[in-house]
Amino acid sequence: MPMPKPKQRHNSEAARRDRLERLRRERIAAQPLRRAYPRMAQLRLELRFNDGSALPPAAQSHILHPPAAAFFRFPCPFADCDGLFDLTGLVAESAGPKTPREISRNLECQGVRARDRLTGHRCGLQLECTISPNYLQDIAA
Ligand SMILES: [Zn+2]
Repeated sequence: MPMPKPKQRHNSEAARRDRLERLRRERIAAQPLRRAYPRMAQLRLELRFNDGSALPPAAQSHILHPPAAAFFRFPCPFADCDGLFDLTGLVAESAGPKTPREISRNLECQGVRARDRLTGHRCGLQLECTISPNYLQDIAA
């Protein structure tokens, strides 16, 4: 019996679906926020993008509550880019260990877009992210 050939995946749409599916599985496997950060009542992530054009990708706002997955990796909003913004370390930095505080950082996408695959030229999309942890006492106040 000849083995069926594995499907080729150069189609960037299929590749994107694979990337999103992988992220979805990682998100499902992640521990809940209440276990990762037991005192955190709410975590707000604001993502603003700048690609130097008049119409950058839409801003995103994520509000996470204790049952939500403690998962902070976001795909580059360009559909044909394989880049990922990993905010895990920034969330840890904003959360403690003792004094939670809001932090803002600028990151740059290190991925490569489909049109640049031959040159390896980086996407370079700028992300300005603001991470605002709220603890129980902050909300009661
Ligand atoms: Zn990108």
